[in-house]
Amino acid sequence: MSEKTYKIELTPPTIEPYRPGNTGVDFVTTFEADRPGPHVMVNAVTHGNELCGAIAVDFLFKHDVRPSRGRLTLSFANHEAYQRFDPSDPTATRFVDEDFNRLWSPEVLDGGRDSLELRRARALRPIVDQADFLLDIHSMQTECAPLGMAGPLPKGRNLATAVGYPGHVVMAAGHAAGRLMRDYAGFGDAVSAKNAMLVECGQHWEASSAPVAIESTLRFLRHLDVIDSDFADAHLPDAPPAPQKLIEATVAVTIETDRFAFDGDFSGLEVIPIAGTVIAYDGDEAIATPYDDCVLIMPSLRRKPGQTAVRLGRYVA
Ligand SMILES: [Zn+2]
Repeated sequence: MSEKTYKIELTPPTIEPYRPGNTGVDFVTTFEADRPGPHVMVNAVTHGNELCGAIAVDFLFKHDVRPSRGRLTLSFANHEAYQRFDPSDPTATRFVDEDFNRLWSPEVLDGGRDSLELRRARALRPIVDQADFLLDIHSMQTECAPLGMAGPLPKGRNLATAVGYPGHVVMAAGHAAGRLMRDYAGFGDAVSAKNAMLVECGQHWEASSAPVAIESTLRFLRHLDVIDSDFADAHLPDAPPAPQKLIEATVAVTIETDRFAFDGDFSGLEVIPIAGTVIAYDGDEAIATPYDDCVLIMPSLRRKPGQTAVRLGRYVA
């Protein structure tokens, strides 16, 4: 897989006006309705160079969206990395010190390590603790159809299919390198009523990722019945979304050596027909598909030991 360069088609919105917020945590604003209801959190820029989430949250602010019941929290997670985004080096600002989205286990959050992202995660944690529902908005390295990343639990799948968008839902565990915010605490607990969804809206800087992020957000909020449905409808396409395709990921290929290379130019959602087809080499070891009609999910351009190179899955009915 070549290190393609992608055009920067999006302009990152200025988020500095949202710094003060109203929660005591920078870049976190909570609106409260008169009627009781769930606490719903919509979060952007978990990764600093993923612009569509900032555009979607900025859209909610600009349209003065308020919860019709419960509470609505709007947040920009890794604002430090986001504000360092440089179109001439757009991959450099995924994070500053380490990946914010691998820190969400008690051992790491309560542990003795320090980094810019850990300080931010620790600051954000009390807010995330209060949220009943979380939408975490992301984008991908490669050009690929948008994916709802539902996690490994039935409740995550149920939420993603109830939202009904985007067109592909992936049921997959997180990464060996550390726990996602989507899987933090009650979100990752099968018996908790809390629930979370992560959405990958397209390539990081492609224009189409912004409307996908906005549509995902509006459908998420409307499904939870926490925004004015007339407002949502006015900003959603007239046609209902296409029926979703569900993919169950069974394997995460974690990179073992510093010589990992894909044996093909994959961008995601390729279906490899024959079991045993080699798709990559990790050092001298060939990585082969475990079954027929194997779907490649989010092949990564980052090839470091311990990182997920790709997930493998199957379409399910
Ligand atoms: Zn991301």
